[in-house]
Amino acid sequence: MANHDTTAAQSEVATLVSELIQIDTSNFGNDEGPGESAAADYVQQRLSEVGIESERFSTTSDRRQGVVTRIAGRDSSRGALLLHGHLDVVPAPETDWVHPAFSGQIDGEGMLWGRGAVDMKDMDGMMLAVIRNWARLGIQPDRDIVALWLPDEEAGGTHGSAWLVDNRPEIFEGVTEAVGEVGGFSVTLQDDLRVYPIQTAEKGIAWLRLAATGMAGHGSFLHDDNAVVKLCAAAAEVGRYRHQVHLTPAAKEFVTRVEAITGVALDLEDPDDCVAKLGALGRVVGATVRNTSNVTMLDAGYKANVVPESASAVIDGRFIPGQQDEFISHLQELVGPEIETEVINVLRSVETTFDGPTVDAMAGALKAEDQHAHPVPYLMSGGTDAKHFDRLGIRCFGFSPLLLPADLDFFGMFHNVNERVPVSALEFGVRVLDRFLLAT
Ligand SMILES: [Zn+2]
Repeated sequence: MANHDTTAAQSEVATLVSELIQIDTSNFGNDEGPGESAAADYVQQRLSEVGIESERFSTTSDRRQGVVTRIAGRDSSRGALLLHGHLDVVPAPETDWVHPAFSGQIDGEGMLWGRGAVDMKDMDGMMLAVIRNWARLGIQPDRDIVALWLPDEEAGGTHGSAWLVDNRPEIFEGVTEAVGEVGGFSVTLQDDLRVYPIQTAEKGIAWLRLAATGMAGHGSFLHDDNAVVKLCAAAAEVGRYRHQVHLTPAAKEFVTRVEAITGVALDLEDPDDCVAKLGALGRVVGATVRNTSNVTMLDAGYKANVVPESASAVIDGRFIPGQQDEFISHLQELVGPEIETEVINVLRSVETTFDGPTVDAMAGALKAEDQHAHPVPYLMSGGTDAKHFDRLGIRCFGFSPLLLPADLDFFGMFHNVNERVPVSALEFGVRVLDRFLLAT
């Protein structure tokens, strides 16, 4: 365990995160923008500086790059652990930021500002700080650790994790578990009670196109077979539908543990009540106990006096683990037989259990550094690179540990303006990661 000195790692982590933030890696979702090669170069240099060999790889082009290094454990016959962070960030319109988005500025209160401070150059820098410290001190973990800095998470991993899993599977050889975003940071319920949600599951994504056809004709005539009317009725049906509450094992365990910690009874059949009772932790519950189907696009017609022959709409559907087929056929049922449906994109859901030595090591490391820590599993409504690692049978966890001030709305800062993280939280993260990685 942590009987060695982590001071050097703690004192350099803020600089590493700040310098990563200053490298603009905005991902506009269309393979344009700066790419990640400058950030990958930075990571590789920081590794080679302390004698760590790594590979800087390109995916679909030499603008989309990442870095990987495998640290040999004492017992390489054990399953390896994948430690991953993405180097890209969502774009940051410069308006409304207190400090410029790519400044990486540290203010007088010890707060580090900039795009990626939360998602997820914080973790990228913590990974670097811990591994560099090991190299300086000659520390070896028990199992192999694959440290991976990735491009293109923010656009679904086509130029990143998905590409790697399909084209470079040897990188993941022997990996049984993965640790990355989103989770492991504190949500304060009381001064002596902090919950640390650790992601063990994420919802799946199903985008559906609905299409209606009818009789085209002049806009002045009587029309009882109007494609636009049929389409709108179907879209409204799907958009208004409140899907039933469905509790996954992760959601059930979240509730059981939070009830035990807080002594507050929670009724997930009434998610609004839970959100109210849980305060900041309520965000974790909201959309994760039911499937959702939102109408996001409509396309019909070209002239005011012409009834078009066809009309279409797109549904952004999100489903709970294990519900994929059921969810899609339910949507098809809701729109009825007259509407044609086409599944235009499906991304799998992910789910693992909150148990085993890796979970114990995460919980133990948190508790060693924060005696008021209560780790709980949770299901996340968004998607991460875990979707692709899961295809290889790897158990995926969201664990990027931070101890945060009670009044900092961390969940609310993802993809938002004024992303910021306290330097003290990064130092805590380094200590917890160091303990965890050497205990697992
Ligand atoms: Zn992220």
